[in-house]
Amino acid sequence: MLDKVVIANRGEIALRILRACHEMGIKTVAVHSSADSTLKHVLLADETVCIGPAPSNQSYLDMPRIISAAEVTDSVAIHPGYGFLSENADFSERVESSGFVFIGPKAESIRLMGDKVSAIKIMKEAGVPTVPGSDGVLDDDADENLKIAKKIGYPVIIKASGGGGGRGMRVVHSEASLLNAIILTQAEARSAFGNEDVYMEKFLETPRHIEVQILADGQGNAVHLGERDCSMQRRHQKVIEEAPAPGITDEQRAYIGERCVKACLDMNYRSAGTFEFLYQDNEFYFIEMNTRLQVEHPVTELVTGIDIVKEQLNIAAGKKLNFTQQDIKIRGHAIECRMNAEDPKSFMPSPGDIKLWHMPGGPGIRIDSHVYSGYRVPPHYDSMIGKIISHGNNRKSAITRMSNALKEIVIEGIKTNIPLHQEILQHSAFKNGGTNIHYLEKRLGL
Ligand code: ADP
Repeated sequence: MLDKVVIANRGEIALRILRACHEMGIKTVAVHSSADSTLKHVLLADETVCIGPAPSNQSYLDMPRIISAAEVTDSVAIHPGYGFLSENADFSERVESSGFVFIGPKAESIRLMGDKVSAIKIMKEAGVPTVPGSDGVLDDDADENLKIAKKIGYPVIIKASGGGGGRGMRVVHSEASLLNAIILTQAEARSAFGNEDVYMEKFLETPRHIEVQILADGQGNAVHLGERDCSMQRRHQKVIEEAPAPGITDEQRAYIGERCVKACLDMNYRSAGTFEFLYQDNEFYFIEMNTRLQVEHPVTELVTGIDIVKEQLNIAAGKKLNFTQQDIKIRGHAIECRMNAEDPKSFMPSPGDIKLWHMPGGPGIRIDSHVYSGYRVPPHYDSMIGKIISHGNNRKSAITRMSNALKEIVIEGIKTNIPLHQEILQHSAFKNGGTNIHYLEKRLGL
């Protein structure tokens, strides 16, 4: 097993990784910025290294400083969490060439999936359903591009192959604006991602966001852990996630899951990963693969009983998966609400001193948070202050447990989005399940 792991992240996910390590008897090193010396996992870690000032580019995104911290502490591996350097192929490569284990996929897989055109190609070959679209990168042949769009049918979306974070995309409703949109998206992609390749897809108007969690050991074994529905979004940010996705049948789960597993085996993928799909009219359409742990992984853990972070650590230590697809059963239903330090109406961040922090408990309630009474939420980072996850025998029970848990929460000193969650949980559309990705923004009048 790994002896000592550097946790190259902050906040709730750093604490989540620390807990998994300590459960497995692995020593931990918290690397943190000077603004983060009072983070809970920093206080709990076996060793700590301050790697720089508050701005992320001088601390959490500074590869040499993180690798040096691994060297001076005699660590053997680095867990990147999510965000920051977690999907940076160069980081994975540099960690491994410096003699450490990167707790995640090989650089090659991160690179392949980071380029959306190459990702889609691999998916097609594995039989994973993709969005009808151009066969790869668009070239400068105007007639040909008009022909492709006509065949797909308007509206279409022009997307940057190297895009991410919801940027580098443009929806086109008619032939008149197609060619200009391609040129504009190419120019944007060149300046934002240093790669002007763009491709074309059918624009789906009312999809749900459904994603499949996989685990692969890079030694010929891979499984899927079912799906999550993350359609409750605002500005492409997920607000509530759940597993399983309402209305998805066992047959659909097996169909899509098996194809994701095949894609993992084809590329000899290693570690945890997520296949993101748009889902509309009973069809799945692959949009991208995330080659890392995700914020919403706990809902999958609660319905499968599998600890995804511990599995990542086992895989990184060179172990084979010790279960097969038949061993994985989906039990009950889980829902996650992301708690943010923000105004529930204006969504303006609300950092500051937390005077009182009281979290709910009881059967089926899990809290993943680094926050405690007296903690100061720094203004420099993401506003997420934790996650509350409920689990019940069925969706109704998970919703009831979540509603009751939200009522127990007391947070004083900063504003949070808890009132928004309470409101969403009362909506009849949410109670019915299966709302599409535009539901929340429409409901908020955005
Ligand atoms: P990014 O890497 O920037 O997150 P994605 O490919 O995951 O890019 O797309 C981000 C979001 O853009 C999706 O969640 C969806 O809301 C929208 N989107 C992307 N492709 C399509 C499409 N073909 N039809 C409709 N919406 C799309």
